[in-house]
Amino acid sequence: EPSSEKYEYQAEVSRLMDLIVHSLYSNKEVFLRELISNASDALDKLRYLSVTDTGLLKDAVELDIRIQTDKDNGIITLIDSGIGMTRQELVDCLGTIAQSGTAKFFQALKERKEAGADSNLIGQFGVGFYSAFLVSDKVVVSTKSPKSPTQYVWEGEANANSYTIREESDPNKLIPRGTRITLYLKHDDKNFAHPERIERLIKNYSQFVSFPIYIWQEKGLTKEVEVDDEPTDSKKDDEDDGSAERKKKTKKVVEKYWDWELINETQPIWLRNPKDVTTEEYNEFYKKTFNEYLDPLASSHFTTEGEVEFRSILFVPSVKKEDMLNTKTKNIRLYVKRVFISDDFDGELFPRYLSFVKGVVDSNDLPLNVSREILQESRIVRIMRKRLVRKAFDMILGISLSENKDDYDKFWENFGKFLKLGCIEDHPNHKRIAPLLRFFSSQSEDELISLDEYVENMKSEQKDIYYIAADSLTSAKNTPFLEKLTQKDYEVLFLVDPMDELAIQNLKSYKEKNFVDISKEDLDLGDKDEEKEKEIKQEFGHTCDWIKKRLGEKIASVQISNRLSTSPCVLVSGKFGWSANMERLMKAQTL
Ligand code: ADP
Ligand code: MG
Repeated sequence: EPSSEKYEYQAEVSRLMDLIVHSLYSNKEVFLRELISNASDALDKLRYLSVTDTGLLKDAVELDIRIQTDKDNGIITLIDSGIGMTRQELVDCLGTIAQSGTAKFFQALKERKEAGADSNLIGQFGVGFYSAFLVSDKVVVSTKSPKSPTQYVWEGEANANSYTIREESDPNKLIPRGTRITLYLKHDDKNFAHPERIERLIKNYSQFVSFPIYIWQEKGLTKEVEVDDEPTDSKKDDEDDGSAERKKKTKKVVEKYWDWELINETQPIWLRNPKDVTTEEYNEFYKKTFNEYLDPLASSHFTTEGEVEFRSILFVPSVKKEDMLNTKTKNIRLYVKRVFISDDFDGELFPRYLSFVKGVVDSNDLPLNVSREILQESRIVRIMRKRLVRKAFDMILGISLSENKDDYDKFWENFGKFLKLGCIEDHPNHKRIAPLLRFFSSQSEDELISLDEYVENMKSEQKDIYYIAADSLTSAKNTPFLEKLTQKDYEVLFLVDPMDELAIQNLKSYKEKNFVDISKEDLDLGDKDEEKEKEIKQEFGHTCDWIKKRLGEKIASVQISNRLSTSPCVLVSGKFGWSANMERLMKAQTL
């Protein structure tokens, strides 16, 4: 018996296990989803590596997941032929805190507290390997990495702060490659060890796993067998006159036996014809793939042909995650010929400012061993990016045209900021972004308007689109700069979000109408009266000089203007200077 070595869990792991057990007790069945998702990840990794190292597959060609149950003893066994783990990886992955799933789980817990959301929602989040202890007293992970000649066994018990690792010694449990996880179920959870129960859970939670999942199941084969028609007793036998042939009859019998049963459909949803996919299926796929708990606001499933061929499904979420602009969002999952390549991009495949859009992209034109360098240089990727962006904007435009006005309001509230960022970062797409922008205005009360609505509402002699940037709607409404324009019944956009003004300045114009800041000194409303101006200048010239002298360096100049109607004076920004709002922004370093 090879010696087994004892290890302590990292302190955070013990805390996490506690947390999982306490917050998910009513949602225990997520353990299966988590273990299957890990198996699927391990198979993805192997398939990806085997592209360049075909030798990896030699020990076991089939990439699949197999689940066996023992209801009498309350044991579930999951076997995958994935990448497995070395001894060191066992310590690193199952003894220290795992990154992705765990971080999401903590975040979800926090959000749930804030939103007071249903505790079932939590089940939608990745909680990882340790969820196995929701239902198990003991978990045994026997695993063989292609990097290691030895198969190792990790063994842990619920409520313990240590685990052990040893070499696999049971010849019945040796596998050529991959991982075999055995769950010894808690007394009250033994009823999970039924093939039908497991099957239902997989249909519910794991239907989009792209590797075959088999369950060891009892099956029945119906056979026709010949049986004697008459009940046979010795007397009849004696009277047998040779007509036995006529007395035989066929009968159906069911022969029971055990075998592996495939229970999921492995055709990825994006390969199916959009006509055959229901909204529910898209929604489920989205939620399962991106760990979301609410349906998306919109989706778009398309194929592009010609120069570059790829298939994709894009989604607009219905909620915003905190800090989306600052963290790596892993929003686009790239597949090449159905092999998952990566979701860790930095703008190569999809612009950063659209990172709230989620989706899958599957290309047949990229090499399977595509690297970040290739992605950056590739002409194919550039074309894909362009098309994806266009489709994303079509999808967003679709929301804005939806009959349900709330949809776009919701969208704008969550993601308007991203589109404004797009005005700054993506000049070539200005004509797609601009119609999607929304602003408050002097004539819209508290409603947001589009630039199209503004243009529609322009006076016949009006040439420009007017705006004022302010720190609140109230201060915009009360600015003296408005007076003249209100008199003329010109609408003025109120740019009250710090990003609004930057967006507008980057756009410069919309439908050939320039954006004009009504607080700048050169505002020309086309109603100059040269004679009268001259007169007034004569009369007040000295007053202006006097004011300039008194204020000195604090201001650039004092000028007579025709832009006010009731206020006596106003502070304006120089034509080439920053607006007061921008100045405030720069000082606050909000960008
Ligand atoms: P996550 O999947 O989010 O990384 P988990 O707690 O589910 O977090 O898993 C932790 C890590 O353990 C995985 O990242 C992986 O490296 C390793 N692991 C878990 N299950 C398997 C498996 N079946 N095959 C190979 N590695 C696995
Ligand atoms: Mg996981």
